[in-house]
Amino acid sequence: MGNFRFSQTLSKQMREWRRDLHQYPELGWMEYRTTYYIDRLLKSFGFTTYMGKEAIVSESRMGVPELSILSQYENKLVSQGEVPEDTIKKMEGGNTGVVAVLDTRKPGPHIAFRFDIDALPIEESDKSTHFPIKNQFRSKNKGVMHACGHDGHISTGLGLSSFLANNKENLKGKYTLLFQPSEEGARGAKAMLGKGWLDDVDYFLSGHIGIKSLNIGDLVATTSGFLATTKINVTFTGRSAHAGIEPEQGKNALLAAATTALHVQGISPHSGGVTRVNVGELVAGSGRNIIADKANMKLETRGETTDLNQYMVGEVKRIICATANMYDVEAEIQIVGEGIETSYDDWWIPTVEQAMNNSEHIKHIIPNIFFGASEDVTFMMEKVKECGGKSNYFLFGTPLIAGHHHPEFDFEEDVLDVALETYVYLIKNLLNDTK
Ligand SMILES: [Zn+2]
Ligand SMILES: [Zn+2]
Repeated sequence: MGNFRFSQTLSKQMREWRRDLHQYPELGWMEYRTTYYIDRLLKSFGFTTYMGKEAIVSESRMGVPELSILSQYENKLVSQGEVPEDTIKKMEGGNTGVVAVLDTRKPGPHIAFRFDIDALPIEESDKSTHFPIKNQFRSKNKGVMHACGHDGHISTGLGLSSFLANNKENLKGKYTLLFQPSEEGARGAKAMLGKGWLDDVDYFLSGHIGIKSLNIGDLVATTSGFLATTKINVTFTGRSAHAGIEPEQGKNALLAAATTALHVQGISPHSGGVTRVNVGELVAGSGRNIIADKANMKLETRGETTDLNQYMVGEVKRIICATANMYDVEAEIQIVGEGIETSYDDWWIPTVEQAMNNSEHIKHIIPNIFFGASEDVTFMMEKVKECGGKSNYFLFGTPLIAGHHHPEFDFEEDVLDVALETYVYLIKNLLNDTK
C-alpha cells in the first residue's frame, strides 16, 4: 500500500469548499445548487456520478415541500445562472442528492460513505464575533443556515472523493459515496436507500461533526443511543363562525389543537425505556373575532427502541383522534419523517484504535458516546447489517460555542482534517485486513 498521507492542499481545499457551501445553505429537497456543486467537483475528480432522480427513489421521499415552492426556487436558480436548466431538470420537483461510485475493478471490499447535505430554517447570527461574519462567509440565503455542520460533512466527503481518485492505483474494491438530501426531519435516507446503493456493501461509514463539545483531535469511535423517531404533521379542520353573533355555529380547530398539545405531553412514561414527545409548532386561526376553522401542528415522537417510538406514535394518534372527536372537527395526520433504532458493534472500537495508530490529527479516541438524538442514517446502517456488512457512525470532536440548530452554531475547521483522516486511515486498515 502506498503513502496514504493527504496533502496540505486538500486540507486547504476542504476549508474553501466549506466556506463556499456555508454561504448557500439550502433546505431539505431543495439542495439543487448544493447537489450541482458536489456533482461538478466529483466529475472533475473522475467519478461516475448519479444525480437527482438517478440517485433516489422519488416516491420514497418524506416531507417534501409544496411543488409551488420548489418550482419557484428552481426558476430563481436558473434565471440567476446558479444552476443550468438541464441540470435542474434532473432534479425537478425536489429530487436532490448525488451518489458517486469509484470501482477499482480489483477484488476487494465495497465500502460506502454517507454525507448529509441539507441546512436549516434559521437566520444566521450577524454578531461580529461569529466566525463566518469575521471571515465573510455568512449565509447569503435569508432565513436558511448550515447550523448543524452539514457544510463540513460535504467538504469531508469531497476531500475523501479527491483522495480516493488520486490514490486509485493503490486501492482495491469499490467505493460508493452518498451525498444525502434532507436529513433534518429524518426525510431523505429511505429514498436514497431504495435505489439499492447499499445492497452489497461490506463496510458502511458515516459520522457527525460536533454533537458534544469536545476537543479538536478527539475521535468518538462508535455511537450508541440513536433514538427511533416519527415526525408528524396534523391539520385540524373545523368551521369558522362569528364569535359574537353565532359562536355555536363554529367548530373550533384551535381548541382541538391546543387540547391535543397539552394531552400528548401527558402520555404515560413506558417502563421499557426512554421516550420523548414534542409539539414544536402550532399555527391556528385567522382573526380575533372568528372561531378558528384551521390549525396546523408539527410534532415528533422518539423512543430508545423502534417499539417504544411506536408506542408513542400510537398514543399520539389516539389522542389526536379523540380530541378531534371531542371538538367535532376533522384531523388529518401525515407522517413526514422517520428514523429507526440501531445498535453499535464493539468490533469497531479496537479496529478504529488500531487504524488511527500513526495518524497525524487524531489525538484521543473515545470508545463510545450516547447520541440521544435521531438520525435517518439508521435506515442505512441497519440495511447494511441485514445484508451481512458492518456499519459505523463516528463523532468528530470540536469545541462548540453554540449548540446545533442555533444561529451562532459553528465548528472549528481543523475538525475537517480529523474527519478526513479518520476515513482514510480506516480504509487503509480495512484493505489490509481483506487481502
Ligand atoms: Zn441537525
Ligand atoms: Zn446534523
